[in-house]
Amino acid sequence: MAEPPAPDGAAPGPDVASLIRAKRDGQRLAGGDIRRLMAAYTRGGVPDEQMAALLMAIYFRGLDRAELRAWTAAMVESGGRLDLAGVPAPTVDKHSTGGVGDKVSLILAPLVASCGAAVPQLSGRGLGHTGGTLDKLESVPGWRATLSPGEMRSLLGRVGCVICAAGPGLAPADRRLYALRDVTGTVESIPLIASSIMSKKIAEGTAALVLDVKVGNGAFMRDLGDARLLAQTMVTLGAEHGVRTSALLTRMDTPLGYAAGNAVEVEEAVATLRGGGPPDLVAVTLALAEEMLWLAGLGPEPGGAGAPGGAGPDSPRDSPAGPAAALADGRAYERYRAMITAQGGDPDAPLPRAAYATAVPAAASGWLRRLDALAVGRAAWLLGAGRARKEDSVSATAGVVCLAKPGDRVKERQPLLELRSDEPARFGPAVEALAGALEIGPQPPSGQPLVIERITP
Ligand code: URA
Repeated sequence: MAEPPAPDGAAPGPDVASLIRAKRDGQRLAGGDIRRLMAAYTRGGVPDEQMAALLMAIYFRGLDRAELRAWTAAMVESGGRLDLAGVPAPTVDKHSTGGVGDKVSLILAPLVASCGAAVPQLSGRGLGHTGGTLDKLESVPGWRATLSPGEMRSLLGRVGCVICAAGPGLAPADRRLYALRDVTGTVESIPLIASSIMSKKIAEGTAALVLDVKVGNGAFMRDLGDARLLAQTMVTLGAEHGVRTSALLTRMDTPLGYAAGNAVEVEEAVATLRGGGPPDLVAVTLALAEEMLWLAGLGPEPGGAGAPGGAGPDSPRDSPAGPAAALADGRAYERYRAMITAQGGDPDAPLPRAAYATAVPAAASGWLRRLDALAVGRAAWLLGAGRARKEDSVSATAGVVCLAKPGDRVKERQPLLELRSDEPARFGPAVEALAGALEIGPQPPSGQPLVIERITP
């Protein structure tokens, strides 16, 4: 079998066809073969059709623990690794698998920094319902997502947190593999998702990491068992690569907070940083903050009385050093302002607002029992807040603002959702996407905990 050519001095590539056959037939791949394969793929020595076939074989056969460890390490080694050793505070980051209205990062990074940790948040742009964290922050006038590694380290030292774009040199194999998975029906594979997420976080150089794995109809993982397995797989991978990692499984059946979009989410994040904000958003943010501070060695282990998710009487939420106090007394907001300013943004500039709005009214009186996250996310996307292809731009002003949430009493014809866009022609399809998204009944819904489970190494 012919081997792919290697450039002068590079190790020869592996026999990819035999690796595909081995995985297809349920055999284990050796760590050395995985490393050589990834190195050859990164330098263009393995054609996409062979990699696509291998990804499909992995989709069906999986990767065992040793294979996954080697696969992830090879993805990290496909590029450079940020050196954060000189940062004068313990580093800890958060990754969310994404959900509708998930603006937690905007609050969490400055909040955790104000409690003494350094948060190096390298983010991506969103594909799907609403923009990613970078798209949201780009609605702040002047704010810039692209920083050099030196600028990033400097900000971590001076401000304690940074949210910026991951450069092209960080786990470059993932960029190509993810694009290939997207067009070959191989995204939904737990080992491929876990290695994709963790390779980027390991390469980022953070010492600790909290994963917010969302579960529900507005999440990537709809099934609790799948979400648990993904979280456990990533927590193990983190430990194997020297990153202290834990995970929270959090509910994503209804939007988090009231706003889904870009500028509308920044507005809600700022309100939360100023001591207001919706209770569900505050609760998830504080649970993640406590977890991060524990991993960074700056707080007690979460999970006192009322755990998971609930704060007991002795929990750090009641302590003046804890994140609840830092959110309430303005320390987190000061850090946010410093972070935005250091990245060229004006925290006092008005955020852009859509030229048009339309309301979706209640069809009956009663209790709002269900507000479907996926439908709200789809409506926000149809209004222009998200992208279909990675080259698309997003609208800063488009989005959906929920005027009521499940558990509220509503009256017939009361506006329940406000749709915003600069292009009124988009309202029709967005309203259609919301058909069946709202359920009103004579009884209130049963309350369910937001934090479902905590997974530690
Ligand atoms: N997010 C990632 O970064 N990778 C995946 O595979 C899925 C979600």
